[in-house]
Amino acid sequence: MKALVKSIPKAGIWMEETPEPICDSNNVKIKITHTAICGTDLHIYKWDDWAQRTLKLPLIIGHEFCGIIEEVGPSVTHYKPGQRVSGEGHITCGFCRNCRAGKRHLCEFTKGVGVHRDGAFAEYIVMPESNIWLIDESIPSEIASFFDPLGNAVHSALSYRVAGEDILITGAGPIGLMAVAVCNFIGARNVVITDINEYRLKIAKKLGASKTINITKKSINDCYSELGIKSGFDIGLEMSGNSTAFNSMLENMYHGGKIALLGLLPNSTIINWDNIIFKGLKLKGIYGREMYETWYKMSEMINSGLDMSNIMTHKLSIDQYQKAFDIMETGNCGKIVLEW
Ligand code: NAD
Ligand code: ZN
Repeated sequence: MKALVKSIPKAGIWMEETPEPICDSNNVKIKITHTAICGTDLHIYKWDDWAQRTLKLPLIIGHEFCGIIEEVGPSVTHYKPGQRVSGEGHITCGFCRNCRAGKRHLCEFTKGVGVHRDGAFAEYIVMPESNIWLIDESIPSEIASFFDPLGNAVHSALSYRVAGEDILITGAGPIGLMAVAVCNFIGARNVVITDINEYRLKIAKKLGASKTINITKKSINDCYSELGIKSGFDIGLEMSGNSTAFNSMLENMYHGGKIALLGLLPNSTIINWDNIIFKGLKLKGIYGREMYETWYKMSEMINSGLDMSNIMTHKLSIDQYQKAFDIMETGNCGKIVLEW
């Protein structure tokens, strides 16, 4: 089969002919129809420090996908060929303390599809039945192909009571943008988002952000009087992975505020701890999606009108994958979907 493979340890990604995966025991084989490119794929493409530390090559990359079940293993009980599905890209052990307590998003042995094992940028992927998510007929495959990052946004936004609160999101990448739409959908009072990229801030505006702030030109608190924010934000969603952005969030939180940390901050990040301790802030790390409550919630939100159509800025054929990665590198995109 055709697959996008990271085959050698240098920048780039290559379309190669690889063996089709075998569908045994409790596994499901999916014929991929749509994939979406994640920032993680770009890290792998660029072959940065994290990728070099983490990956064993060769590896088929990619974990955001939608497809049709082609075949099921002999022990599979809940799925059949022909069904349209996506899948949870975190394969958990099923036996550790957290897995057995129903908290699989906290499994200490999680393996990532397209990171620790072969991924979805291929004609076929095989994964355990328990990771499969059936897509409702009403949801377009393009949207279903990025349920994984939408799940990151939903998991973060649902971590705290957003209704009626003032929300600050740092980073208008695809996940920050999705979080704008989700926070509005669940009744936030104000949703303010920062970035350094005007293209992305324009999408945020379309998605209903109360205020978009290009932090190279303005400070966050410039918007306070216009939005009627008296002393800072109630909830912060850190979605940039940038230390300056995180510290600006800490500066702008109201006392007793709560933060969900999704962006991968550098270990060298220096924090002004006074902001956390004296303001009594609460911080929560977010990894992946809750299995499978986040999947349920996001599917039903989409079914009830949560609009993700503005998030997808590019739809290309898989043969144009190089162009897709080039666009990703410029940052002038929302979600890029590849049709197989
Ligand atoms: P992305 O890299 O596309 O978006 C990050 C955005 O932050 C970019 O638009 C960038 O311009 C912006 N930014 C950079 N410096 C900034 C600053 N000083 N202030 C405000 N914005 C700034 O990433 P994404 O795909 O949207 O993902 C968001 C973050 O979440 C990334 O750090 C990613 O690695 C991380 N992530 C975490 C998980 C998890 O499970 N914890 C899963 C997926 C992604
Ligand atoms: Zn586990």
